[in-house]
Amino acid sequence: MTVQAFDLSGKVALVTGANTGIGQGIAVALAKAGANIALAARRSPDETKALVEAEGGRAHVVMADLSSTQPCERIVDETVDALGRIDILVNNAGIIRRADALDFSEEDWDAVMDVNLKVLFFLSQAVARHMTGWASQDGTRGKIVNIASMLTFQGGIRVPSYTASKSGVGGLTKLLANEWAPKGINVNAIAPGYIATNNTAALQADEYRNRQILERIPEGRWGDPADIGGAAVFLASKAADYVQGHILAVDGGWLAR
Ligand code: NAP
Repeated sequence: MTVQAFDLSGKVALVTGANTGIGQGIAVALAKAGANIALAARRSPDETKALVEAEGGRAHVVMADLSSTQPCERIVDETVDALGRIDILVNNAGIIRRADALDFSEEDWDAVMDVNLKVLFFLSQAVARHMTGWASQDGTRGKIVNIASMLTFQGGIRVPSYTASKSGVGGLTKLLANEWAPKGINVNAIAPGYIATNNTAALQADEYRNRQILERIPEGRWGDPADIGGAAVFLASKAADYVQGHILAVDGGWLAR
């Protein structure tokens, strides 16, 4: 295995929720490895676009609200029109809603399940239909990387729809790997630990929970979106051609405790 196995030069990656946080960290890491990036976002991802271009990559913005499946096929078509094809899909967009399970609303259940699980599946389907047009036939493989969570493995508290959705992401990652491995597509997931982003702003601001979390992380710090980039490059690269249905924790040791 040489360092070239991690090279993404000439590859096209579609990253959802790329305007901020982990999506931005992944888009920049994939660009550093040589990929051109389609940035799917509901708010203009100007900062990420500039960061990708500063790495010498092409960045194409696809404006899309991922709370419904409606834009999935358009996202694929626009990306292929602009950048030629899609070699890598990173399903990163996600939301969280917090309330006691006794009070949790149907609206908060549906909103989270739609973005985190339903759209992840149907966008993967749309991209896989595109990938099966070339995967394996030209000696290269398609790569799908889903963003899971510690709550793919654990129960959490006050986040019932988030836990259900991220546990679902773990199961779907394995199902899709089983079905699509023979078609030349690798499907894997990254489970980030506690990463300092908008998604965790409430936890970071809560002095008690912040201390509890830091005490459990062997690395002793919140993760940074850039910490997730290396795992994304690996799973998107030729180096991971024989990795299937794996959920790679990048958590500063949280699960080891
Ligand atoms: P974030 O900064 O809030 O990023 C979430 C991204 O998803 C944003 O770009 C957001 O866009 C986008 N998004 C949400 N709903 C959308 C919609 N309807 N249409 C289009 N885009 C939408 O939080 P993050 O922590 O980076 O989260 C990224 C992923 O990592 C999520 O799947 C999250 O569950 C997962 N994760 C995070 C952590 C953590 O500790 N931070 C841990 C485990 C897993 P807007 O900016 O427009 O809202």
